[in-house]
Parts: sequence; C-alpha cells; structure tokens
Amino acid sequence: MSKTIFEHSTPGRKGYTLPKSDIDIPLGEIIPKEYLRESDARLPEVSELDVMRHYIMLSHKNHFIEKGLYPLGSCTMKYNPKSHEAIVRQSCFANTHPYQPENTLQGSLAIMYELQKDLSEISGMAQVTLQPSAGAQGEFTGIKIVSAYHKAKGNTHKTKIIIPDSAHGTNPATCSLVGYDVVELKSDANGRCDMEHLRSIVDDSIAGFMLTNPSTLGLFETQLEEIAELIHSVDGLIYMDGANMNALLGIVQPGKIGFDIVHFNIHKTFSTPHGGGGPGSGPVGVVEKLVPYLPVPIVSKNEDGYYLDYSHEDTSIGKMHTFYGNFAVAVRAYVYIKMLGAKGLRRAGENAIINANYLMTRLKDYYHITHLEYCMHEFVADSSWQKKENKVTTLDIAKRLLDKGFHAPTVYFPLIVPEAMMIEPTETESLESLDAFADAMIEIAQEAKENPELLFEAPLTTPVRRVDDVRAVKVLDPKFSFEA
Ligand SMILES: *Cc1c(COP(=O)(O)O)cnc(C)c1O
Repeated sequence: MSKTIFEHSTPGRKGYTLPKSDIDIPLGEIIPKEYLRESDARLPEVSELDVMRHYIMLSHKNHFIEKGLYPLGSCTMKYNPKSHEAIVRQSCFANTHPYQPENTLQGSLAIMYELQKDLSEISGMAQVTLQPSAGAQGEFTGIKIVSAYHKAKGNTHKTKIIIPDSAHGTNPATCSLVGYDVVELKSDANGRCDMEHLRSIVDDSIAGFMLTNPSTLGLFETQLEEIAELIHSVDGLIYMDGANMNALLGIVQPGKIGFDIVHFNIHKTFSTPHGGGGPGSGPVGVVEKLVPYLPVPIVSKNEDGYYLDYSHEDTSIGKMHTFYGNFAVAVRAYVYIKMLGAKGLRRAGENAIINANYLMTRLKDYYHITHLEYCMHEFVADSSWQKKENKVTTLDIAKRLLDKGFHAPTVYFPLIVPEAMMIEPTETESLESLDAFADAMIEIAQEAKENPELLFEAPLTTPVRRVDDVRAVKVLDPKFSFEA
C-alpha cells in the first residue's frame, strides 16, 4: 500500500498559516478545562501539494462515474452534468434561509412551484410534494397517504397491502413501518404479476397495491388495466414505486394508467450525484382525491406571487421533512428538466431503453437471461451457466469486473432470480463504453471456463482485495490505523 498522509508528515512543513489570533485571553481561560485536550493532536505536517496528492490518490482508489461505467441496476448511476453543480452553488441558492420572508424567496419558490408542476405533468398526477428526502421516504409518505385516505373513509378493516415478489426491498419495509401487513404476490413465468394469484388474494381487507414499474426485472407491467380495476373494486389504492421513472420519461404517465400515487427518485432520474448517503429527494405525486392528504406546505401561486400553502393542513398527513425538502436536489432536477425539455426527456428515456437492450443482446449468448424479451432501462442476467460448469458465482464475476475498470452491476437482486446481475447502463453511456463493458463481461465468461481460479481470487488490482461483506457491516472499523 502507498504511504498515507500521516506517514508523509515532515516536522515544520505547512500548507496553511493561520492569521494571528485577535483574542488576547489564553484559550485555557475561555474553554473549560474538561474540554481541552491534554496533549497536542497527532496531525500530519504537510504542504498543500501533499494534501492535494493525498486526496486525489484516495479518490482514485474508489470507483465513480467519471472513472468508468457504473451499471448498478435500479440505482440509475447516470452522469450528472457539472453545470448543475455550478448553478446550485450560486449564492442566490446556497445562502438563502428557509425563515426568510416569502417576498425575498420568490425565485426559490418559483423553482419549487415549477418543479411540482413539471413532475405532475411527467407523472400524470394532480399534485406533487417535494418534501420527502429520498425514495424510501417518498414511499413512506405515499403509504401514509393510503392510510389517511382509508381512515377518513372509515375503512378500518383494511389492514393489508399487496406487493409482488420482484419488488424493491424498501417496499415491504415501508408498508410495515406504516403498520400494514404485506401480502406477497407471485410473479408469473413472464416476470409479470400472476393475475390468478392476485385474484385469489384481493378482498375487502386490501388497502392498496404497491408496484415497482418497470419492475426490478426491467420489465413493464402490461396488465395494469386489469390490476387497477381489481384493486379499485375493493376501494384499494395503487402505488407506483417510480424510482425507475428513467425508462418512462415522456413515454408513460403513471397517473393516466391507473396509479393513484407515485414517488420519484429525482436524485436518480433527474440527476444528482448520489450513493454513499445522499442527499436525495423523493417527491410524491397523487391523483386529485388524495391531494388533501399531501404533506404541508406545498408551493402555490396567487396574484401576489408564490407562497407556502398550508391550506389543507387539517387533512394533511403532516410534515415529512424539516422545511420544504432537500432544496439543492430540487434545483438540479429543475435545471435538468428545463435544459432537456419534453423532447429531450423522452429521448433520455428512449436511449436508456436502447442502451439496456443493446447490452442484453450482446451478452445473451454468454450469460443466462431468464426474461429474454425487450427490456426497459435494465435487464437481469445471471451466472447459472458459469456456476453449473465451473462453480463461478455472480460475486466472483462482480469482483472480476472491478479489475477491468467497471463497477459491478447490482448483484443477488431481485431475489427471485438466483445469482442475479441487474444491469442498468443508463442513457449517458456511449456505444464505445457499452461495447467496452460487454467485452469485459464476455472476457470474464471465457475466464470462467479457462481459469476459474482467477475469478475466485478477484479482485486482484484494487487497493482492498475481497472483503468479508458481513463482517464489514457488523464490525465496522472506519478509523485510521498506523499498523495497517
Ligand atoms: C433506489 C430505489 C428505492 C429507494 O430509494 P432511496 O432514495 O435509496 O431511498 C426504492 N425503489 C426502487 C425501485 C429503487 O430503485
């Protein structure tokens, strides 16, 4: 391993000199003794260049979209335009305060108002809240709305929500958090909802149905009309997990095909660097009859301008986030939508679909693919051929991809496909980079035949070799150690 910045330390070397303190009183007299360190901290003494090299070196040990393709299925790791970062850091956005008087915040409110409207249009919903701070919190907001709707109607017997077995893991977690029992719906041989099973489980105790669409298999659910009729016939509500909206942009409006509630993952679809803890944003759109339950405030407009609208406070599920949500993520989404326009958004969606289908077609002779039909923005391959022939697993393949300069796909998900590799290239990748990834995957398929031991050892070139994933989570030790 290369030297750490601590080991580079040279006594007396400086990167920065603090200005002379203008406080005459010794620190020991201002700060109570118990808060003072007993001896000096062991900080490295380094120059500015040492620091720069250290951080650049560290950043290159990680994977990021600017370094290579990042086909993490369902996560939509597209390239995020740098212009958004410049815009969102402008002082007119960065230095506003949510407690400022409304008349000094008209620009910011206009952005939120416009974004609510654009997301309503994209989703075909009546109104959108920008408050939830991520997809999972959007789900929580949506299912709280389901609960509020039934409570208002006196539907106390509705205790269950149906979720397909291909759903994203956050869906059942969300329902449990709100207090619902989850009924798992089987997928049929085509990877769609098993309608016969659905008919057998729909009764008056059903509060709603939660569908990830396109599903985590990268398939569009084609039986929506029938599903909607069935669920609505028992006064259930249909929720769409719209984190995969990337594939539907300008093509499908969920509100027009039977869905009552949808959440967006605007940090995915509308471009904010995400992963590693956020920040995100998970706006929720609802049909007209559910608008009274949305969190307060939403942004409205009258003859005096834009304002924070608390008018439905009595029926609202309350607040989901301090103030009005993660504003900086909203600004990036607003810029993304306005820069692309309606046509551009549709092209982004179409290209995401074309890129995924191109990769699937290039890989289908080398990896088993259960659902070999046109996919949406992602598809699920698996390593069942490799496992059967040479005991090479999806984990081995994922680790080997790191050696070849690519991030691995999402692995072992969805759970209904053993050894799954969920591949989402996104629309921002060029034909050349798609080909480079396909070539690497094909090379790995050959290595699996000729030299499986190599794959069991992978990754060979990363700063940290194969880690014990379980121990890394359970016995997390993030501190620097001189002994390492
Ligand atoms: C990413 C994702 C979520 C969760 O979103 P977070 O912003 O990570 O909370 C939910 N559902 C699907 C289908 C997703 O891809």
